[in-house]
Amino acid sequence: MSENTTTTTTAPTENLRERALKLDAADPLAGRRALFALDDGVYLDGNSLGALPVHVPARVQDVLTRQWGELRIRSWDESGWWTAPERIGDRIAPLVGAAAGQIVVGDSTSVNVFKAVVAAVRIAGEGRDEILVDATTFPTDGYIASAAARLTGHRIVPVAPADVLAALGPRTAAVLLNHVDYRSGRLHDLPGLTAAVHAAGAVAVWDLCHSAGALPVGLDEHGVDLAVGCTYKYLNGGPGSPAYLYVAERHQAVFDSPLPGWNSHADPFGMTAGYAPADGSVRGRVGTPDIVSMLTLEAALDVWDGVSVDAVRAKSLALTDFFLECVEAYVPAGRVVSVTPAAHAERGSQVALRCAEAEPVMRRLIERGVVGDLRRPDVLRFGFTPLYVGFADAERAARILADVLAEVPAGNTVS
Ligand SMILES: *Cc1c(COP(=O)(O)O)cnc(C)c1O
Repeated sequence: MSENTTTTTTAPTENLRERALKLDAADPLAGRRALFALDDGVYLDGNSLGALPVHVPARVQDVLTRQWGELRIRSWDESGWWTAPERIGDRIAPLVGAAAGQIVVGDSTSVNVFKAVVAAVRIAGEGRDEILVDATTFPTDGYIASAAARLTGHRIVPVAPADVLAALGPRTAAVLLNHVDYRSGRLHDLPGLTAAVHAAGAVAVWDLCHSAGALPVGLDEHGVDLAVGCTYKYLNGGPGSPAYLYVAERHQAVFDSPLPGWNSHADPFGMTAGYAPADGSVRGRVGTPDIVSMLTLEAALDVWDGVSVDAVRAKSLALTDFFLECVEAYVPAGRVVSVTPAAHAERGSQVALRCAEAEPVMRRLIERGVVGDLRRPDVLRFGFTPLYVGFADAERAARILADVLAEVPAGNTVS
């Protein structure tokens, strides 16, 4: 893979590099990259921890020094701290196809999975005793759903998304599914599965961790009941930034939280002994919000102003197609196998490559500035975040992957 090939300009490297430059020049989102703090490496881990938008530190500094340091407790009102969970929820809403008033920000995704699953089985009502859970899920969702099932007297039925249709029935209370599989990058059929869950009389809960900010979700359009997601991946909210909970408006009046903290009370400062839930998305709150993280997220969301999610999706698919094409051209046959679906309708915004030598290969990639991540034992995962990853990045990552594979002999599975 020498850069000084002696062949003509039709050599694949030259071709692909030239195409990458042209694609970047024509990319309507290319200008967004300058909004982020990045070095000259290739950051393909924004699906795990999104990059820092450069304007955020000054905004957080203001939260600390002025809002907290000077205004102190007045900031709960004057700086809008108290209403931040709903306000920021409304900023996330258009990114996931939700009208205002249905999303509240706070707590971790894990905690919101708990709230959503318990609320879902309560919405489903008596006589249904099963919770179907995506068996390929990010482990926390499965752990939490099991605990929720135990507490509510339900039975967990682990099921691959492809088998959900066959598993649905009169006993199904709720179904917890991932929109995009964190490992393979497979995009599941949210409209079709949601409709099937409803046809069975059950309640659909979607985990959007790997889709929000990468592709259109259409929560309202497809009649999703409840959804959760994190904000530190494609939404760039920062490490440990709070997650969100979507409760469709038609369910809000019956949303019965298993964690009815005082922040979700109709009159939180009444400090009454009896609990009376607030109306609307506020009902999904628990306790005092983590204001510094929350306002960091709010500032970070500015990078989405004026961005169409359809444009993000179009670039994401073009980027992942192009990366796969470069891998195919550069990497010797048989060293890696894509486990990301080729069909656009089934692909999220990442490429996962199965590689027997994944561990030493990823270590060397990172040493050379190509930062992806390893999903043990044998998956190399590359996240494509359309706001700040370009086509030249994709070409370079594939080229360096080929170089690294040339150094790590097949069968060398040790770092
Ligand atoms: C990232 C991720 C989580 C993270 O949960 P936390 O509570 O924020 O740690 C949960 N579910 C899925 C599917 C994820 O991808």
